[in-house]
Amino acid sequence: TKYVYRFGGGVSDGGAGDKSLLGGKGANLAEMAAIGLPVPPGFTISTAMCARFYEEGESFPDSVKAEVAAGIDHIAAVTGKRFGDAENPLLVSVRSGARVSMPGMMDTVLNLGLNDVTVAGLARASGDARFAWDSYRRFIQMYSDVVLGLDHGAFEEALEIAKEDQGHFLDTDMTAADWERLVGVYKGLVEEQWGRPFPQDVHDQLWGAIGAVFGSWQSERAKVYRRLNDIPGDWGTAVNVQAMVFGNMGETSATGVAFTRNPSTGERVYYGEYLINAQGEDVVAGIRTPQYLTRAAREAAGARPLSMEEAMPDTYAELAQVFDLLERHYRDMQDIEFTVERGKLWMLQTRSGKRTAKAALRIAVDMVAEGLIGESEAVLRVDPQALDQLLHPTLDPAAPRDVLTKGLPASPGAASGIVVFDADTAEKRAELGEAVILVRVETSPEDIHGMHAARGILTARGGMTSHAAVVARGMGRPCVSGAGTLAIDSKARLFRVGDRTVSEGDVITIDGATGEVMVGAVPTVQPELAGDFGALMVWADRVRRLKVRTNAETPADCRTARDFGAEGIGLCRTEHMFFDAARITAVRQMILASDEQGRRAALDRLLPEQRADFTAIFEIMAGLPVTIRLLDPPLHEFLPHNEAEFEDVAAAAGVGVEVLKRRAAELHEFNPMLGHRGCRLGVTYPEIYEMQARAIFEAAVAVAEQSGEAPIPEVMVPLVATRRELELMKEVIDRTAEAVFAEAGRRIDYLVGTMIELPRAALKAGEIAEVGAFFSFGTNDLTQTTLGVSRDDASRFLTAYVDKGIFPRDPFVSLDVEGVGELIRLAAERGRATRADIKLGICGEHGGDPASIAFCEEAGLDYVSASPYRVPIARLAAAQAAL
Ligand code: ADP
Ligand code: MG
Ligand code: MG
Repeated sequence: TKYVYRFGGGVSDGGAGDKSLLGGKGANLAEMAAIGLPVPPGFTISTAMCARFYEEGESFPDSVKAEVAAGIDHIAAVTGKRFGDAENPLLVSVRSGARVSMPGMMDTVLNLGLNDVTVAGLARASGDARFAWDSYRRFIQMYSDVVLGLDHGAFEEALEIAKEDQGHFLDTDMTAADWERLVGVYKGLVEEQWGRPFPQDVHDQLWGAIGAVFGSWQSERAKVYRRLNDIPGDWGTAVNVQAMVFGNMGETSATGVAFTRNPSTGERVYYGEYLINAQGEDVVAGIRTPQYLTRAAREAAGARPLSMEEAMPDTYAELAQVFDLLERHYRDMQDIEFTVERGKLWMLQTRSGKRTAKAALRIAVDMVAEGLIGESEAVLRVDPQALDQLLHPTLDPAAPRDVLTKGLPASPGAASGIVVFDADTAEKRAELGEAVILVRVETSPEDIHGMHAARGILTARGGMTSHAAVVARGMGRPCVSGAGTLAIDSKARLFRVGDRTVSEGDVITIDGATGEVMVGAVPTVQPELAGDFGALMVWADRVRRLKVRTNAETPADCRTARDFGAEGIGLCRTEHMFFDAARITAVRQMILASDEQGRRAALDRLLPEQRADFTAIFEIMAGLPVTIRLLDPPLHEFLPHNEAEFEDVAAAAGVGVEVLKRRAAELHEFNPMLGHRGCRLGVTYPEIYEMQARAIFEAAVAVAEQSGEAPIPEVMVPLVATRRELELMKEVIDRTAEAVFAEAGRRIDYLVGTMIELPRAALKAGEIAEVGAFFSFGTNDLTQTTLGVSRDDASRFLTAYVDKGIFPRDPFVSLDVEGVGELIRLAAERGRATRADIKLGICGEHGGDPASIAFCEEAGLDYVSASPYRVPIARLAAAQAAL
């Protein structure tokens, strides 16, 4: 097999379509070279090599060594420089690049090919000794960190000392001799820590770096990132080896990163940062504060140092042309890395830019208007999960704000929480249920778990493209970065702004849309759903086949869901209504009653309450189907918790506390989830379901009478395993319906059906469909009962199961399509065989998960049902599934 693919100098062995083989970076470098953009020549070692590297005990087959040597020859031929040459040395970068971008998670080495001999050659060839020694010290530091795994703190400290000794404040003040001296110190550090001198053989350097980059695929932080982002471990990374171009060759050189549109708002403006006389890493690492790309952005921020547009107008104009060309070529917003070497522009990377949900919406809608993409394409462009960011509350503009300071609006949304200063504490306190704001000088990939646990992130340093900003936008966490007036004292666990102090545990609020940092918690309001959202939803609804309902039982939730476009209720859980403080005593009385008569007395008290619940829901959902699940949980969940509660029930029921306690003890179950619950309650105590059915029909008839628009109740019997169970329950329901209709002198349409949440029910779906008019797949329980895994206890081991690749994702979050999915397919098929027009839906948590929705489309279900805030997500996911 071929492992090495060249690009640059008129050849491109690959292109944008080869991301799985060449990684995103490699594929796009080849693509940019192919369309004639200035890309330094290089080659990509494919992701196939990554798997092989691990199979062969982290080593390389000889055939690859030969291919890499040929690749180096290609770069040498194009550049006219030679690798390891004393006169005109070729330097390369060795860069990681997986199929999808994993910002900062894997390693890169720059300036490789420098040693004590070639550094002199580089100085002569460039006529700039300072640049040559600056590059060499950068190389030793990076190589020691990434490849040799030495303690980078020691190198940073040595640099600080060197600057102090020379009385310099900035890196740019250092002279050639200063850098040369530092190189001496660095080499000493390497020998001291590594026990051997810094490698002088450029081929050893190259293979060391290639091995380290492949090795970084399995680093802890890369694994965590993959887990959080559902990236399979077997994809592997590619390695790109590319001729260096130098942004650190003085005042006519620079490096920068840019987005072709604003990734935060989606506005159509170039957006980015650059630094004169610097190398790529300097911009993201926050070592120096980067400058604005455009004059408009600089002026808006009231900043002084010249923007690139002003400082290098010709190169900027060329860059702007490249931006437009890339957008037209890829038909998407691009995130770009570039370097200017002595006035000449070089492109180092392009990819589809990460963006906030707000930006994704705006860009998709704008691009339809610009004629770049069609409506269906726009529907596919927005990640349904990301909509979540838009649907949640933002800060109340009318609420007073005690603004402490202001940083950059790096990722939108608002968050309040207690201040913590490190990732581990963030994780710990978040696990205790606290809302935390992670406050750091700047974040690094090691902080990723803490950023995930936090509600929001605040940093003192770093720009809009810093690690914190990029990762926060990706995770949908609000972030304020570069709040420069923040003085963090992490030892004392506090930060100061002027003369005000905020300690760990104090509450602050950050506004990622304005960059404001406030003391205390600021109240929030529901967001206005903007025009872009509406436009996209119209396009989505046009193409989707699946209906979208909601899981809701309170009038407030029903209303929210309807506003978000729900087309009915897929699951109304009646037990939630039982917990209401005003009626819990009656519920307890019903449960603890020792005979039918006692139960009926309590049920009579509950009937008007339930009827009122259903009336309110039917009014909101007029004309739409409403699936109501009869009582499902084991009775003991409602039991009194303490003496006073027992006394309340005793008084209401007119029996002694001791009797009640004995009865409560009898209700104890070892395995309640598989116990006396679901339709088993209805089989043993039919009067409970009878009361619920009566409440439903009385409410439905009353609403039909008042509004003229009858609701369509779908009465759902839970936890059915056999046809006979459903038959018995249907008799109770139908009998009650007839009684109510006779009393009211008016009929309404209704259906009786069941949840499919036990494997036996799925297998016997043909028989069950002879009785039930609809199936709703209760995938929470169906997953639990099919896997034999308790969903309430599974989190302890499920993470390990996902890490070890046993499940691709948590099966309670994303449907186990292969196992549970097969049961659903089978039940759908058998159900349709006996009842052709059977209604099929899904009402588990999975109903709001895009991957599971795609499965429902494929399985031909009629609808999915999701929690109210996930309704728009489900509408969009259903549209994408249909395309
Ligand atoms: P990451 O994926 O973390 O961004 P990259 O491989 O893109 O890592 O490289 C890190 C930095 O080094 C980037 O700013 C990039 O532009 C710069 N860089 C990479 N290769 C070269 C090169 N051949 N010449 C100049 N700068 C480079
Ligand atoms: Mg990069
Ligand atoms: Mg269930």
